[in-house]
Amino acid sequence: MITIGTASAAPGEVDTGRLEVGETRADSPVRLPVAVINGESSGETLYIQAASDGDELNGVGVVQRLVPQLDPAAISGAILIVGIVNYHGFQIAEHRNPIDDTKTNRTYPGDRNGTSSERITAATFEIASQATLALDLHQGSTSRMIDEVRIRCGRRHRLHDACLELAKVFGCGHVLDQKGPDGQLARVAPDEGIPTVDPELGGCVGWDEISIRAGVDGVFNVLRYYDFLDGTAPIETQTKATGFDFYSAPAGGLLSFTKALGETVKRGETIFEVTTPFGETKAAVTADNNGVFWRSRRLPQVATGEYVCSVGTNITTY
Ligand SMILES: [Zn+2]
Repeated sequence: MITIGTASAAPGEVDTGRLEVGETRADSPVRLPVAVINGESSGETLYIQAASDGDELNGVGVVQRLVPQLDPAAISGAILIVGIVNYHGFQIAEHRNPIDDTKTNRTYPGDRNGTSSERITAATFEIASQATLALDLHQGSTSRMIDEVRIRCGRRHRLHDACLELAKVFGCGHVLDQKGPDGQLARVAPDEGIPTVDPELGGCVGWDEISIRAGVDGVFNVLRYYDFLDGTAPIETQTKATGFDFYSAPAGGLLSFTKALGETVKRGETIFEVTTPFGETKAAVTADNNGVFWRSRRLPQVATGEYVCSVGTNITTY
């Protein structure tokens, strides 16, 4: 029997329930939606979580489509899911947890007696710690971004190769291999011996069906490759960046991009222009390095110094 909060599943069973992690300001329980899929035969344990950033909804879309498709009779091992991690941020479609104004995914492994975010990450880390593999579903917030998978443990970590493999199996086509900030699940869980990656499923306001589908396919690839399910995963060569150049606006005005998401960028090429409301060019910004056009702001208007876009650099394939 596997139990998370009110969800309990014996081998061959699925159950969903709620995991209580405190109370709201209105004195009602904060209960995270959880699911346990306990396969009929034994195998690895996969932990999946979504919406640790409260405005990143594609991961919730993945979980919502994934769980009804999972038949425990056909599964070896177990799948443990927290469908919404940053409960308070999700409530108001904000990135950070408004209760402590913190990015939840900077507070792993959490603290049972800590802040709102730390209590949530302590509770979810306890579940993740039971796994042998973990996926923390993200996206480029509400910016526009390619589908990619991030490896956050750092290249000297003993689990780096295992995380690279997991990212390749998930198979979004692009990988960012760059050590993440402290407190990310994908930084902390590998220290416990759990290969963990962050699938970054596009970037949108609301749901993007194409990126959600990429996420569902990615999870099924993982389930097949690591023998939760019969069948083989299509393993394809990934484009990997280990650097990330950020570009901001040298002038205020309206943006016009000369590169599309996923397009190759050559050093010295123009990547965007800033124009006046009448289409007069005020500034043209060129690429500092070769790379891949990775992410861009959604709104066309910018002030001087405001974030515009990112280019993945040091590109190789594996
Ligand atoms: Zn995120």
